[in-house]
Amino acid sequence: MSILNIVKEQKSYFANHQTKDLSKRKQLLKNLLVVLTKREKDIVAALHADFKKSEYESVMTETSIVISELKRTIKHLHSWAKPQTVMPALLNFPSSSKIYKEPYGTILVIAPWNYPYQLAFVPLIGAIAAGNTVVLKPSELTPNTSKITKDIIEAIFERKHVSVIEGGIDVSTELLAQRWDYIFFTGSVTVGKIVAKAAAQFLTPVTLELGGKNPCIIDETAAIKLAAKRIVWGKLINGGQTCIAPDYLLIHSTVKAQFVTCFQKEVAKAYGDNPENSKDYPRIVNQRNFDRLANMLENEKILIGGNTNREDHYIAPTLIDEPRLDSEVMKGEIFGPISPVISYDTEDDIHRIINNYEKPLALYIFTRKKNFAKKIIANYSFGGGTINDTTVHFANHNLPFGGVGESGIGGYHGKQTFDIFCHKKGVTKRYNWLDIPVRYAPYKGKLSILKIFMKYFS
Ligand code: NAD
Repeated sequence: MSILNIVKEQKSYFANHQTKDLSKRKQLLKNLLVVLTKREKDIVAALHADFKKSEYESVMTETSIVISELKRTIKHLHSWAKPQTVMPALLNFPSSSKIYKEPYGTILVIAPWNYPYQLAFVPLIGAIAAGNTVVLKPSELTPNTSKITKDIIEAIFERKHVSVIEGGIDVSTELLAQRWDYIFFTGSVTVGKIVAKAAAQFLTPVTLELGGKNPCIIDETAAIKLAAKRIVWGKLINGGQTCIAPDYLLIHSTVKAQFVTCFQKEVAKAYGDNPENSKDYPRIVNQRNFDRLANMLENEKILIGGNTNREDHYIAPTLIDEPRLDSEVMKGEIFGPISPVISYDTEDDIHRIINNYEKPLALYIFTRKKNFAKKIIANYSFGGGTINDTTVHFANHNLPFGGVGESGIGGYHGKQTFDIFCHKKGVTKRYNWLDIPVRYAPYKGKLSILKIFMKYFS
């Protein structure tokens, strides 16, 4: 069936209120939970076939996240969807007011390849829970995960409710030409702008989950050994192909040498002396990304690592020493296991470097100085972050996850994933037993009473 007809079919299904029954929504999500749990091993195998992601990382960063988001959604669906009573305005006395959670309609979700399962299913679950129909387009760069996603969805949902359309840029372009009620996109800044432009044509609301150049500051008071361990973990998980991975390291010059030694030891502890032989170390997703990353190593001073294997898409965990800000590795988001190390002496140095880039998706500070951490959080705009660790703010579903400026628009996770897929419809109900006459024309002689009302009741 053509994309146009799938969208038409979904729109008419939605228009007939077929997706709005809460018990039905909950039952479908429960069915999904059964299948996702049953097929966990197949999903893990698909992720391994796509980019040698280890079973442990697949469970930790993909399947368990989806399962817990799904369980939470099932558990709270009725309370999240319930109209919320709010305080009425005294000026409307007597009245009551409610916020109704209205599904938008037909949603387009476009997913990236780097967490191809989690970043497809989490928004999908929220969109279905909120009562929408959904078309999901997984990434073409992870074909095994894309295929299993399609199989799972087709086993549970009718096409007119949820449909997975596989393909690359051509399919994406055709999808973006349709009129959607909401678009949820995760991917690069460049494609995010294409999505925003397509959405603007119909004034379609969007969530854009994009990337950026995430600073990681390590000051002279930081617990260096622990910082190195946590940075190695957050940087190298998924082979560094994580939107919130620390991108470049800003290290106080007095602790730089100690940090580099600790980093090397932590890499060896985690992945052995040659990470290429480690089953836990993922590969770069494709040749294009491998070449892009390998190119960043040219003409740089390598502190650690630097070895590559083009056939296997392997890039060693690498530290680059003091690259210039106009060098390849400092131009844009790295998105791989390479970390530039830039030393600083003063807060002005930090300021100059961070302000050289667009607002990042994440920022990390390792310090024992409370006020320094507070100041960094207050002074810089970024999507979200962690003090004394990397990436773990992602794990708290009570925190909104999303960017700001070029790193994205909107946030999700937990209840917020449900909320973003509903329009909040505010409705006031007036009662008929009293009708204060002051607002009605003729207005002559009523202005002073209006002013008293506005002063005391607004
Ligand atoms: P991408 O932008 O290349 O692709 C994302 C999706 O868009 C894919 O499904 C792809 O098929 C589609 N696409 C690609 N080119 C397109 C075009 N010209 N027109 C329409 N659609 C197009 O991103 P990617 O390489 O899959 O993922 C990596 C990027 O995603 C990084 O920048 C990373 O920071 C970002 N990311 C952000 C988050 C987040 O939550 N903020 C999470 C993961 C990845």
